[in-house]
Amino acid sequence: MSIRFYNTITRQKEAFQPLETGKVKMYTCGPTVYDYAHIGNYRTFIFEDLLRRYLEFRGFDVNQAMNLTDVDDNTIRRSRERDISLTELTDEFKAAFHADLKTLNMQAAQNYPEATNFIPQMINMISDLETKGYTYTTPDGSVFFNIGKYEQYGKLANLNPDEMLSGGRVADDSYEKEGARDFALWKGYKAEDGDVQWESPWGKGRPGWHIECSVMSTELLGPHFDIHCGGVDNIFPHHENELAQSVCATGADFVNYWLHSEYLLVDNKKMSKSLNNFYTLRDLLDQDYPAEAIRWMLITTHYRQKLNFSVSRLEEAQKAVNRLREFYSKLKAYDGSGEEDAEDQIRVADEQFTSAMDDDLNISGGLAAIFELVRWGNRSMVEGRLSATGANDLIILIRKFDHVLGVLDMESGLNVEIDADFIESKIADRNEARANKDFTTSDAIRDELVALGVELIDTPEGTKWKMK
Ligand code: AMP
Ligand code: ZN
Repeated sequence: MSIRFYNTITRQKEAFQPLETGKVKMYTCGPTVYDYAHIGNYRTFIFEDLLRRYLEFRGFDVNQAMNLTDVDDNTIRRSRERDISLTELTDEFKAAFHADLKTLNMQAAQNYPEATNFIPQMINMISDLETKGYTYTTPDGSVFFNIGKYEQYGKLANLNPDEMLSGGRVADDSYEKEGARDFALWKGYKAEDGDVQWESPWGKGRPGWHIECSVMSTELLGPHFDIHCGGVDNIFPHHENELAQSVCATGADFVNYWLHSEYLLVDNKKMSKSLNNFYTLRDLLDQDYPAEAIRWMLITTHYRQKLNFSVSRLEEAQKAVNRLREFYSKLKAYDGSGEEDAEDQIRVADEQFTSAMDDDLNISGGLAAIFELVRWGNRSMVEGRLSATGANDLIILIRKFDHVLGVLDMESGLNVEIDADFIESKIADRNEARANKDFTTSDAIRDELVALGVELIDTPEGTKWKMK
């Protein structure tokens, strides 16, 4: 049996076949770092975490890149509103995002590219598109992609040809399907951009949002990779435009499988900053909802179904996590010496879990298999039938399932003990990473500490710290 995923571009489930045997390259559109991400955003990121973890469970070696959008219309507008530099604004929310990822026990991606570190490569890709005849320039020094030059434009979002207005232009990063038009690759400098500007062959300006992801994905994963994910609102215009740019610039196929997760809703409306109906992770932790309940709530509804947020769902989620944790603790403490091993039950649970999850991550089926096993295991412990080997094998299986679910070892909130020992040990880890030239890890540790209010000062005598 092979894994099957629903591919947005073909609108059907397809057998998953990676480009390279045993390896998966996936690109997941990350947050725009102008504010705290809300738990709607985290629904999408946790779906991607579940996908990544499941691929690993099935033996694939996954190489994931998740970008951070640190220059776009929203970040510039917010930094001007707050009267701080773009970097000051985005540094704050980059750190908060990395801290949230840890709180929600998401596995770290191999790379977290930040758009402002790839501006020369973006200029190169736009120049490439220009040389190949896909673009035109406007008098304000902006460069637009001419959608009329790319026959396949609209295929991903299934656009009706009448909705496409080649020759019309849209300069904003976000717009609706009805507004499908030529879009901005490079935006000529405007006074509202303040000091956010880079030199380019078209004069000073900044990149459009879509070219950022085309470039970062190509740089880190190559021009053709396996999986590209995001929320359904990314299908149009963001991913449609990425696809057009990348295919036209590189000539490669870009992406084989497009996976998109549905919205988290509040009172049946999309949770969003613009509707002001959102909760951040911190809001919920402050109200004493543990991180594991939030994680569980977000992963246990199938990713292509809408999910209505409610407090009762969080409470249900907590009960389910507790049931699994209690089972696990009981297994570890089990000192019975029954005769029954758990071989048959383990085989069945493993097969049922795997065949459900293989079917486009059918999480309900997967959980049904796990909780059936939990019921059986609890009964056989109470009745003293389970053997010590059986208990041990069950422990191993539950840990294997938890590689996918990721809830057994979670801290219950952001409030990691920040005592001196904890900070010193983090600094030691960071020093080790720096000595190994693993700057992704050392930066991530610094960000984690910053988010906890710890400032690091690197001096010739070593790293000192103080609370901010
Ligand atoms: P943004 O920071 O706005 O670029 O969004 C980051 C990610 O969150 C994108 O992949 C969006 O599709 C996703 N997203 C935004 N709102 C929701 C929501 N209410 N439910 C699920 N995903 C969302
Ligand atoms: Zn993106």
